[in-house]
Order: sequence, then structure tokens, then C-alpha cells
Amino acid sequence: MKIFTIGGFSEVGKNMTAVQVGDDVGIIDMGLYLPKLLNYEEGDPRDLPTKHIVRLGIIPDDNIIAQNKGKVKFIAFGHGHLDHLGGAPYLASNYQCPLIGTPYSMEILESLIRDSKKKIENQRIAVNPNSHKIFGKMKLEFINMTHSIPQTALVAVHTKDGTLLYANDFKLDNHPILGKKPNYERLEELGKKGVKAMIVDSLYSRRDGKTPSEQVAREMLRDVLLGTNNSGKGLIVTTFASHIARLKSIIHFGNLLKRKVVLVGRSMHKYVGCAEKIKLVNFSKDSEIYGFSGKVRGILAKINKEREKYLIVCTGNQGEPNAILSRMARDELPFKLNSGDHVVFSCRTIPTPETMENRRVLEERLRKKGVIMFKDIHQSGHASKEDLRHLIEMVNPKHIIPAHGGEAGNKGLANLAVEMGYKLGETVHLVKDGSVLEV
Ligand SMILES: [Zn+2]
Repeated sequence: MKIFTIGGFSEVGKNMTAVQVGDDVGIIDMGLYLPKLLNYEEGDPRDLPTKHIVRLGIIPDDNIIAQNKGKVKFIAFGHGHLDHLGGAPYLASNYQCPLIGTPYSMEILESLIRDSKKKIENQRIAVNPNSHKIFGKMKLEFINMTHSIPQTALVAVHTKDGTLLYANDFKLDNHPILGKKPNYERLEELGKKGVKAMIVDSLYSRRDGKTPSEQVAREMLRDVLLGTNNSGKGLIVTTFASHIARLKSIIHFGNLLKRKVVLVGRSMHKYVGCAEKIKLVNFSKDSEIYGFSGKVRGILAKINKEREKYLIVCTGNQGEPNAILSRMARDELPFKLNSGDHVVFSCRTIPTPETMENRRVLEERLRKKGVIMFKDIHQSGHASKEDLRHLIEMVNPKHIIPAHGGEAGNKGLANLAVEMGYKLGETVHLVKDGSVLEV
């Protein structure tokens, strides 16, 4: 079995892996590297030729599988985050094979392809979590998992040389707000049958303990939204548009507060729209969603006059200068933030210098206006050290390949593996983008 670590092994982003056994190659994920995309200042880099976008480091360099291009049987996606499928509109047409993932991931992919205006002729296949599909001599399986976006799956590729399990990204949430618990039974079963290699999300491998359930984030939201005095005040919650479980909790508490919940912004409209299309949720029943600029301005002007009657949910939790919250803070929208209004950050600031600076600027503006802030009302979607140990114990893979954690996170997971009896360089492998590993 040959494993091509194409992207996501040297940085946190642009994930892409290929696996080859004989004449069959399978690809898992085709992501974007968001920081490089956001920092590009000469227009939208996605309008450039694909080779150029690769050179900028925004999408993975798939050159190492160029000579096996014709053998690729599928491109599978474990979940719908941009760092896992955002590169597909640019790279998928290099391959003549189907694109496959769970329904929510495939809806998001479809909307990204539409936005990119690229012509992608690959067949699309949506499969439910806990199901499989055969391609050539490979059996591709999607195992139900929890993360911070609906319908996340661990991807298993079963071959005559053994099984590769792709566990990137995941958390082990026993009380999910949306969807089912991880399929522990199946993982244990695979562990008993034997797994050749496992690629693992090592982002928080150096964080002790277990990542708290999404249920904990929900209780934190309950505490802040129902347990503080926001009557008569403006109330805004900002979070990730793709975190549908979190949005579900926010809408629930907004309704308990007897406020009309209004979701605003293009990405809210897009990600909630995808979830409603496949009937995962029906937010339109208990809230209103406005995506396009004219309509957003209209509803915000209305809310501005009766702020005590609404709860605004918007993007901009990372202080992105063009998101709704930053534009409100700069007085560029018809809703004016007043002294005493509440802003709840249901997220964690991603610790890159750019993001931290953006958040600092946003918070300073809010503070000047006398806005009351509640921060870090959040729990992560990534496994901590004890979740990683639990997964390794269940699956008991022969080889471990850390991914998604940058150098430090990957090393953290390697250290844990060594603690558990693996041997560095023999059964746990620290690899960079563009490597080929034979196991
Ligand atoms: Zn993710």
C-alpha cells in the first residue's frame, strides 16, 4: 500500500491524501489553505489558472500522483469544511472519477462549484454515514463521526493490502446536538479485523484531557443568553456558518427569550440553505435567514428600531474585516450598536497573527461603543489527547500518520503514539506534504 501525503501534513489546511494498491488509486479530501487565500491582496486568486493557485500554496500540489492520474477511482470527502473540500472545484477536473461524500458535504461542494464558475464534470455521489461503495478493487466506507459540521465521517479504504482509515477531522462527542454518536461499534470491529494505517487529526494532540461535548457549548450558551439581563438591549451572537448544531442551540434559546431570531450574511444563507435542502434541519420554521446585501440592510434597519425584539446571528467571529459584525462595528450597516448591547462570541479565536489582530481591532471598536462582550462561548470540534488515545486503542492500527496539526501537533501525536508502544519512523510516521509512504 502506497500512501501519498499530498497536503495537510506540513500545515493546518489544504488536506489531501491518496492511497494506491495495484492499479487502483483513491483520493481523500481536496482542501484549501485559507490563510493563504485570505491574505492574497491582488483580487480573487481563485480567478487565476489552477497551476498558479497551487504555486501560491492555496490548494494542494497533486503532482506526485500525476503519473497515476488515470488510476484514480474516486475522490472522497470526510466532511464539508473548506480545508477538506474547497480545492475540489480547481483540482477535481484533473481526474476522471466520481466525487463522493455524505449528503451535507456534497451539497456544500455543489455550492462551491457554482460559486467558482468552474466546469466540473465528475459524477457526484452522496452516501449516508455508515454506508459503503465499491470502486475497482477498493471498498470505500464512511463511518459516522462527530465534529463541528454535520454528517462528518471517518473514511475507510479497504484493499487487498489492508485498510487505510482516514480520521481527519473528528472529536468523540457522546452527546451531539445534531446527528448520532460516533460509530464506536464499527471502529472496534475494524480494530479487531486489523487496520493497516490510520491518518489522524492531531490539531489538539498536546491538549490534555477530552474535548467537551457540543452539549457543553449549548449549556454555556444557555447560561449567557438566558442567565444575563439583556432585556431591552440589542443581542447578537456570532459563530461559524457551517456549525449547524451550534446554530440550532442559538435559535432554541432565542425562541425561549421570545426574540425573533434572524440569521444574516451570505455564508449563513449558504450553509443553512444546504442543510435545509437535504432536510437536516428546518431553521426557517423558527427563524428568518437573509443572505443578500439589499435584504440584509432592510432587516437590519427594521431591527435597529426594535432591537429588544430580535436576536441577530451573524458571521464575523474571527474579526474578518468584511463580515457583518465588523461592518456593524464600523457603522457601515443600518443596525447601530448601542451602549449596553450584548455581543456573544460563540467561537474561539484561531491563533494566527492575522486573526488575532483582526479580533483585537473589532473588540476595540465594540468596547468604544460600550458593547458588552461574552467571549469563548464554545467547545472545539477537534479531539484532545485522551480522545486520540481512545481512538488509537479502539482501532489499534499498525501504522499511524499524524496530520492537520502542523509540525507541533503532528509531533504531539507521535509522542502519544510512542508512549503507547509505537516506534518513531517504523510504525508512527512524521511526514511532510509531497511524501510517499509504503506500508
Ligand atoms: Zn473540519
